[in-house]
Amino acid sequence: MSVLWGIDLGGTKIEAVVLEPGELTPLARKRIPTEASGGYRRVVARIAQLVAEVSAEHGIEYPKQIGIGTPGAVDPATGLLKNSNTTCLNGMPLQQDLCDALGAEVICANDANCFALAEATLGAAVGYPTVFGVIMGTGVGGGIVVSGQVLAGCQGIAGEWGHTILEPDGEPCYCGRRGCVETVISGPALERFYTERSGEALGLREIFSRARSGQDAAAELTLRRLCEEFGHALAQVVNILDPHAIVLGGGVGAVPELMSAGSNELSKWVFNDRLRTPLLAPKLGDSAGVFGAAMLYRLP
Ligand SMILES: [Zn+2]
Repeated sequence: MSVLWGIDLGGTKIEAVVLEPGELTPLARKRIPTEASGGYRRVVARIAQLVAEVSAEHGIEYPKQIGIGTPGAVDPATGLLKNSNTTCLNGMPLQQDLCDALGAEVICANDANCFALAEATLGAAVGYPTVFGVIMGTGVGGGIVVSGQVLAGCQGIAGEWGHTILEPDGEPCYCGRRGCVETVISGPALERFYTERSGEALGLREIFSRARSGQDAAAELTLRRLCEEFGHALAQVVNILDPHAIVLGGGVGAVPELMSAGSNELSKWVFNDRLRTPLLAPKLGDSAGVFGAAMLYRLP
């Protein structure tokens, strides 16, 4: 049986993995700096270099197909990458250029979609027919997996609940709108919310530790805001997609109160007498992105 190659392209590092189908221990794994400051052509060349090195160093046959996880998404209409925070990639035909540079077939998928695919096929949500994978951290993203396949959508934006609107007159978002979910419950948004009420600039970990001690009203308010707005925002996803499981990834997704108070808030707004959807902690840690990329070419 042939092996699966995956690449996780990040703003600071590029990681490659080679998996045997169904195995969690990689045959090979390697990470190199992205060197994004060298520009788009440099990033494409780095990926080609990494694949050649892994193949040579591990004596693994050069791949015919490679799954690639990217920040941002390829627009199905134009073939150009968009919405990437590694800005030199935006507006570029990354999938086609990687095909040419690698001499292999390539599928690019958004990194949140790769996270969802990895957790649905190898991690916490194995066996659930429809999975919504959430990443909450510096930003808020998500991916949908149906029967082991990523649902990319008509415009390549399926699962992007971070840019649905929670507060129409809220804070401006980098996407050009106001009050997106990301401007309310991302890490930086919650830290800003706390600072505005307390006059102190603290990291999220410290804010929530103070909230749990019960001696900082602004911190308690910030934690309550996370749980309540998480419930409001995620209920819209549940009402439309009704996934069989939701996996909560990212630094903010690991806040334990989301599994209790957050789930409670969610159940208030779901169009059902009770919430049956399990909220799951991810199992694959840092490996989810690159494993998910490798799973893009797995046979169903
Ligand atoms: Zn937005």
